[in-house]
Amino acid sequence: MQQPRDVLVRFHEIALKGRNQGRFVGQLVDNLRRATVGLGVKRVWSERMLVRMRLDPAADWEPVRERVATVFGGVKFSLAHRVARDYDAIAETVGGLADGRDFDTFRISARRADKRFELTSDELNIRLGDLVRERCSARVDLRHADLDIHVDILPKDAFVYAEEYAGAGGLPVGTGGRVTVLMSGGIDSPVAAWRMMRRGCRVDLVHFHSFPLVEGRSREKARELAEKLNAYQYDTRLLMVPFADLQQQLILSVPGPLRVVAYRRFMVRIAETLARRDGAKALVTGESLGQVSSQTLQNIVTVDEVASMPLLRPLIGMDKQEIIRQAEEIGTFETSILPDEDCCTLFVPRSPSTAVRPEDIARAEAGLDVDGLVQAAADAAEVVEYHAPEAA
Ligand code: ATP
Ligand code: MG
Repeated sequence: MQQPRDVLVRFHEIALKGRNQGRFVGQLVDNLRRATVGLGVKRVWSERMLVRMRLDPAADWEPVRERVATVFGGVKFSLAHRVARDYDAIAETVGGLADGRDFDTFRISARRADKRFELTSDELNIRLGDLVRERCSARVDLRHADLDIHVDILPKDAFVYAEEYAGAGGLPVGTGGRVTVLMSGGIDSPVAAWRMMRRGCRVDLVHFHSFPLVEGRSREKARELAEKLNAYQYDTRLLMVPFADLQQQLILSVPGPLRVVAYRRFMVRIAETLARRDGAKALVTGESLGQVSSQTLQNIVTVDEVASMPLLRPLIGMDKQEIIRQAEEIGTFETSILPDEDCCTLFVPRSPSTAVRPEDIARAEAGLDVDGLVQAAADAAEVVEYHAPEAA
């Protein structure tokens, strides 16, 4: 029979939330529960300044580790042996843990969340240190230890563990309100979505496609990306908006060099209509300043003009290489680089204008029934829902 194990998840920024802390921790507990459905986690609850997850003795740690590492709000976590609050029991577990490993230097890091325990942290460090030193002929090195053995004393149990894993950081999804992300099939906007989730937002995704004017690849990519992003927020709505009719109307009055900005202005108006309908409070794009011609400061200003909600751009100050690295880390990169034909390249010349002024575009839009076109596109949006994770 394996020794009982709990996962201990620590948070940091949440701890600073004062009177709201309970709500943030409660959401973290819910999300950890949700993220590990079907993996043998019997119970998840908060205790003192950490979240505990009780693992079934038969549960496989690796899949649990992978999922916990994606839950926003967790800063560090460990798989800990749960032992009685008794020095001898703790010493035996520490000895057993050291026996199974190869190391020259080590340290003991004892911490008492419950100060009533019979020994102080220092006394625990010294006594357990002596024990390991004699048993394994290893040296203590407080700064660069090969092995760091943690001992946590809680009110009812004690915990012993060596490995600490990095959590996803940020704030739990569900604590920051709802936003609507304009998601193309490209590299950037899925990263923007992830970064908003990491600040606690629940994210709805809106994808514009020019099917049937072009093949349907971008829609497949959007579905695949939505599914991948859903692993971080557990419930996701993807809205697919047909854009081809509107584009065919636009090209009649908008000169080639202005079209990308014109498309973007309509995307923002339509996304805002959908956001308002669904209770989202801001729009989000994957733009970074100067990356391509549509993302110059002047063109951003001309697009922003049509938004009445805040238009957030979490990648605005990032370099392409940084964004690519992040896309690889969160698992969206491979899908993003599949070939497709984005609707923004349709009917657009090779070198679009980098400085479209609001008055230029207003003139081009003057003959259009802007509200009618926006409403028609919003009404035609098709909803796809994702719920995750399913039992493994
Ligand atoms: P991405 O990698 O997100 O496609 P990008 O650097 O290729 O970004 P653009 O193609 O100019 O830049 O798009 C800028 C932003 O406009 C995107 O990040 C996205 O938020 C939005 N956008 C562009 N095309 C679409 C689309 N087809 N559907 C939804 N949003 C889009
Ligand atoms: Mg793109």
